[in-house]
Amino acid sequence: MGLLLTGGTIVLEDEVIIGDIKIENELITEIGEKLVPLNNDTVIDVTGKQVLPGVIDAHVHYKMALGKVYTVDNFETGSRAAICGGVTTVIDYAEPIEGLSLLESLDYRVKEAKGHNFTDFSVHMTISGNTPYNLDDIKKFRAYGINSIKLYTTYDFIMNYDMIFDVLRKAKEVNMVVTIHSEDNKIVTDKIKELLEHNKTGVEFHGVSRPSKAEYYAVERIIDMCEQEDLSAHIVHVSSGLTGELISKAKARGVKISAETCPHYLMLNDEVYKRTDAQLFVMQPPLRNEYERLKLIDEFLKGTFDFVTTDHCAYSPHQKFISNTFYETNGGIPGTETLLPIIYNQTVSAGKMDLLNMSKLLSTNPAKKFGLYPKKGVLKVGSYGDVVVVDPDLEVVLSNDKVHTAADYTTFDGIKLKGYPIMTILRGMIAYRDGKFLMGDPKGNFITC
Ligand SMILES: [Zn+2]
Repeated sequence: MGLLLTGGTIVLEDEVIIGDIKIENELITEIGEKLVPLNNDTVIDVTGKQVLPGVIDAHVHYKMALGKVYTVDNFETGSRAAICGGVTTVIDYAEPIEGLSLLESLDYRVKEAKGHNFTDFSVHMTISGNTPYNLDDIKKFRAYGINSIKLYTTYDFIMNYDMIFDVLRKAKEVNMVVTIHSEDNKIVTDKIKELLEHNKTGVEFHGVSRPSKAEYYAVERIIDMCEQEDLSAHIVHVSSGLTGELISKAKARGVKISAETCPHYLMLNDEVYKRTDAQLFVMQPPLRNEYERLKLIDEFLKGTFDFVTTDHCAYSPHQKFISNTFYETNGGIPGTETLLPIIYNQTVSAGKMDLLNMSKLLSTNPAKKFGLYPKKGVLKVGSYGDVVVVDPDLEVVLSNDKVHTAADYTTFDGIKLKGYPIMTILRGMIAYRDGKFLMGDPKGNFITC
């Protein structure tokens, strides 16, 4: 029993066609014109609608522990929201667990998610500055089925620049991707200290407490390492257009640097930190001023970023309003569900990017980077039947009531959109259709690369 979508505008890898697409036993089996259904095939007419590869959100934190608190979205609620926004695959994080080896920590996280994710998933393995690691560990990650490591230049996971250099060298030997949260720790901690000395503790100081020069400086150091020894690194959640420009120039020189940005940095600026509900917008790195935001949009439209992710890390308003200081407010916002709608509106609906290029940013490029391609990230025969159907004419006003995250809010409340996902198909299963979530139990698989 197969599924046949007919008459849609189908986004293939290098072209957009009008036609039909057939999925059988989880895989795409045929793409073409006037495909003939078998007796028991489900046929859905999607004329006038756009058929895209399922979105891959390559940066989410579900059920993340922060001290004794967990983020409000667990695997079930986070991935359910993801499906409702056209996301079929997420890449979450495994963190080192005390008493376990890195490989055991990775295995623990994958087992924790198995049976609870509605989307398919992979993970990035975090190595922190005080986790012993060697080349053998990194080889084991690859053998386990993942291809990427996460490093931090700040927080408890902090790794100094010399160690980062070492990881980049080791990762090159085994062809692992190294993704890096880049905010220079000294710049951030000095700034925070200065603010506290002046009793500037309110959330309105969140933006200035982690200035964009901290990001710029850390990224500059990483680019330098890559350039010196022909290494490669991936910068996560770039928040400022100034950093974007730095990356763009490095790429033009041939440096092997890749980067992602997030919808919130493109859509919002630091004025929100003056609001009475500013906590709802606290994430790291923070939102930037309007000049840097507009510059970020320029870089984004120029193609500086390889893909867009959300850094989904949801806290409930209760968890957010527990403090009114910038340094104690839980940092992170929900986002997976609104990834496609926001980016679609900023690009395709705005007439600033075509469907094909947008789809590369949301699906093909992250799949290629993290070893999921061509199983994922593309509509072609033999790939998984992961599909999102978008109605380009559907007008939606995003609101806190509309989103499915357990955080029960969106930072994009009130934003008017034209073009919205109406159906999400995971490996041939219709998981979401016309506002209704249809997957009974979580059926997401761990996808190895
Ligand atoms: Zn993150």
